[in-house]
Amino acid sequence: MHTLPQLSYAYNALEPFIDARTMELHHSKHHQTYVDKLNAALAVHPELASRPLDDLLAHLVDVPEDIRTAVRNHGGGHSNHSFFWTVIGPQHSAGTPDEELTQALIRDFGSFENFQKEFNNKALGLFGSGWTWLVRSGETLSIITTLNQDTPITGGQLPLVALDVWEHAYYLLYQNKRADYVTAFWNVIQWSEVSARFARTNA
Ligand code: MN
Repeated sequence: MHTLPQLSYAYNALEPFIDARTMELHHSKHHQTYVDKLNAALAVHPELASRPLDDLLAHLVDVPEDIRTAVRNHGGGHSNHSFFWTVIGPQHSAGTPDEELTQALIRDFGSFENFQKEFNNKALGLFGSGWTWLVRSGETLSIITTLNQDTPITGGQLPLVALDVWEHAYYLLYQNKRADYVTAFWNVIQWSEVSARFARTNA
């Protein structure tokens, strides 16, 4: 059985950038629903119970057809949100990318500012519901978007940064002003976590 991961910070810890009410609903309701619906789908195929979720998502074509869409949507939702909660956190611990990640960002985007600009543009340009990602594939870092709860893992890419741009992630505080939410996001990215993740992909 998959379970809702606990956050390592309080619901109000990301204020004023992401409000407590949004965090509570997003984690305890939206994310919980993905977990519940994933478990309901997997209950039909107990032989999959021991497979790590990201392994199922990386090999969706091997998932039985009758639950493939449910695993893609709700398994993706569980994986994406579990990852997202670790990328964001209190502003006081946000920090900056370490030297190794900084050099990789400069190599692939020209500068940190260009990386930021491209990330913002992709997040703002995404039509409908989905995610914006910094991913690694091979030696290259790039920014991609996925629709709905699709994950870069399915395409063999390693996520380093995720931004949820579903309206449920920002509507209470920002209403239709997605740009303000995307701008606020930069204050809460936990760069030590992202840098550590990048280092692990080098191993
Ligand atoms: Mn969400």
